[in-house]
Amino acid sequence: MADSTTKSSISALYIQIALNPNSCINCTNFTTKADPNTLCAQCATSLKSDSLLFSLYRAVLPLYAFWIAFLRRTSRRKWEDDTLDKFGTIFRFHLGTPGVQAQLPEMLGREIEWRIEGVVKGQKTLDGPAQQMFEQVLLTVLQCDNAIMLMAELLLVHLVNAPNVPVIKVEELLFKPKHNMCPQHWTFRVTLSDQRQFAVNFTDRQLGWLPIVVPWKNYLIERVDKLYEVHQLGDWRKKCRREYLKRWQRIQAPPFDMVLEEPPAGWKPDEGLEEKELENANLAFSYRCAEKMREYYGAWEAEVEAEVRRRRGR
Ligand SMILES: [Zn+2]
Repeated sequence: MADSTTKSSISALYIQIALNPNSCINCTNFTTKADPNTLCAQCATSLKSDSLLFSLYRAVLPLYAFWIAFLRRTSRRKWEDDTLDKFGTIFRFHLGTPGVQAQLPEMLGREIEWRIEGVVKGQKTLDGPAQQMFEQVLLTVLQCDNAIMLMAELLLVHLVNAPNVPVIKVEELLFKPKHNMCPQHWTFRVTLSDQRQFAVNFTDRQLGWLPIVVPWKNYLIERVDKLYEVHQLGDWRKKCRREYLKRWQRIQAPPFDMVLEEPPAGWKPDEGLEEKELENANLAFSYRCAEKMREYYGAWEAEVEAEVRRRRGR
């Protein structure tokens, strides 16, 4: 099958903060150690006296690590070389060829640049930890609806139904973000047993937003321009099969052979189906999707544990 001609780009100007491995993922303050996705010493200490929020972090961070690993293994995007425009470095990609795994651009030792109206405002040479941060930005581009669809089941299992996690509710929210490059965006909203609410977002990195867990009142003020829809956990997955088929996306068995790209021209997978058949197909898709994500998570967890054992045995 030929490469899709659909092309998108991301500008370094908007992802500056999300490229900094020295930022604490809670307060975004500078830490001396370049360690992606970790908390600064102050936040780590203060979280110890907030056991509910501490438990939420402990449950959410492995889910984020899984999500990034999942995206890395299913990515079909074909990246072009980075170029410069009046905003600085930009990265362009095609959606890629179904079934063909694509590599992320290697930026080690390369310089990226931020400009405003052509005037250079900053530069950074990417090192190892910054390359990791950079990859998380690229992997999450245009994935916010997929994160809601695919991660809902894992949030149900690991947050809502987990005995030691104080989460009583998770919702799926669609909104217009306060961001120049994005007309609409999805987030999860988590309610703890003491009624405090937090945005939990696995794809904010694409917008240059670093934290994964943010107090909902702050998220609402800083990130949300207009709230469009609020759904119960798992609702989007039940509705999005048609959208998913339209985009030639399907879920297969592990190891991670999911296809997330464009359909062949003129393909009409729903043609001739009655309304009831469509409804059943949507539900069947939803159950299958949930089941597959549990399988993927289990496979990933086993790999991580094996890696830990391997390192200890050295
Ligand atoms: Zn901090």
